[in-house]
Amino acid sequence: MANHLYDALFGRHEGLATPFLHLPDGSSLTHGAFCDLAASYGAALRQAGLMPGDRVAMQMDKSPHMLALIAGAIRQGVVFLPLNTAYTPTEMAYFVGDAGAELLVAGNKVAAALAPVAEAAGARLLTLDPDGTGSLADLARGLPPMAVEPRAPGDLAAFLYTSGTTGRSKGAMLSHDNLLSNARVLTDYWRFTEKDVLLHALPIFHTHGLFVATNVALLAGCPMIFLPKFDAEEVVRFLPQATAMMGVPTFYTRLLDDPRLTRDLVGNIRLFVSGSAPLLAETHRQWEARTGQRILERYGMTETNMNTSNPYEGERQAGTVGFPLPGVEVKVCDGTGKEVPKGEIGTIEVRGPNVFQGYWRMPEKTAEELRPDGFFITGDLGTIDADGYVTIVGRAKDLVISGGFNVYPKEVEMALDALPGVQESAVIGVPHPDFGEAVVAVLVPEAGASIDAKAVQAALASSLAKFKQPKHIDIRQDLPRNTMGKVQKNLLREDLKTLFTP
Ligand code: AMP
Repeated sequence: MANHLYDALFGRHEGLATPFLHLPDGSSLTHGAFCDLAASYGAALRQAGLMPGDRVAMQMDKSPHMLALIAGAIRQGVVFLPLNTAYTPTEMAYFVGDAGAELLVAGNKVAAALAPVAEAAGARLLTLDPDGTGSLADLARGLPPMAVEPRAPGDLAAFLYTSGTTGRSKGAMLSHDNLLSNARVLTDYWRFTEKDVLLHALPIFHTHGLFVATNVALLAGCPMIFLPKFDAEEVVRFLPQATAMMGVPTFYTRLLDDPRLTRDLVGNIRLFVSGSAPLLAETHRQWEARTGQRILERYGMTETNMNTSNPYEGERQAGTVGFPLPGVEVKVCDGTGKEVPKGEIGTIEVRGPNVFQGYWRMPEKTAEELRPDGFFITGDLGTIDADGYVTIVGRAKDLVISGGFNVYPKEVEMALDALPGVQESAVIGVPHPDFGEAVVAVLVPEAGASIDAKAVQAALASSLAKFKQPKHIDIRQDLPRNTMGKVQKNLLREDLKTLFTP
């Protein structure tokens, strides 16, 4: 039997001298050399006692070695969980314990702090640094490669923990075929071939950088310019050598702030993709005005991989996330799973080979969110218009219910963003003694602009119904964001929760 994911992503590149990773120091790693490294880390995982189906947790800086460790885990049938480098040891203790990981691999600089975490979870701790040194590398040295472990399409490949901004993080179980089927669709839909060069500046502990970007490049057989993180300086340096870039909206806004972003700089690029957080229609327009290129926005999540995408050819509509991908069904429903009329707002549900297998050791949570007919209740609110374009209006948990009326934050945010001097906004609900919840807006002024809260309220009076108008306006220098560029509304709600109530 074959190894479903390994064979398609890596196996066919074994021994090839084609370039896979171009690194910022000018060096490169071929597909063949990468596969050898993956085989040696795979053998080290087995040498460390892990059997197929066991879990390896990892918290380490992005590097070719981390990617090879992941490939090695897939090769030997070990389930991997890459964890955000921002997590503290206390948070790590939850993930390692919850996943029942047998091994934790960490960079040397965090290893000492993680030793008690590993011990408490009964996991072994090994180290691996971006330069390929550490106790895992020592273990790998000299080990002969093992036979590739057979794995069926439905076998588990990875646990990705949801960011858990409300309640506990959940381990989304992703099978070999969840990952492979989605990567195949995206490679085709976005026309990736071995002639592409993908600029990769995303983290690889998250679905976007790990599965969307990396798996597409592997399937297409094209190289990636593999940067340790997003750094505008470095991205500007490498854009002329790339044909495609995938990024979160903040990549695009930061590049727009850089005067070096011109049509010429990106003249070699054929595709810019954005996702993981909403791209403002205004950013889409500014990008086109500056570069002549229209960003392609897509929508997905940890549990489902990618669900929708604007078209490669055809109208990439700013502010929308495009159409359901081939093989993916998307519907907009009321709370009971019944579809709402076209154009109305409801909860987005999705079904397809991309949808995960459930939450690890949380059968009740799985049952709450995954219907028996296979539709996953995403928790995102959205609409589908007459032409089939899907628009996300926010997370269901961010919906504000004020005096019994539903207020969709995005509608208020769009009205605010359109006002002069406003760079961006976030609208939240906070407890209110009369209304249950009150609409509150947090505004960030454009550089050099000052915002008068009273004038903002007056300006909205003519465009929004009274119940949608913010009862309070908070002006800040920036919005709290996580590493994927998502605005952390939970932090804003926490900060402002006593505005109207003690
Ligand atoms: P994660 O599981 O961290 O990838 O987060 C998934 C969530 O990010 C989705 O459920 C959406 O709420 C949001 N998201 C992803 N892509 C987009 C997009 N293009 N526009 C708006 N929200 C998005």
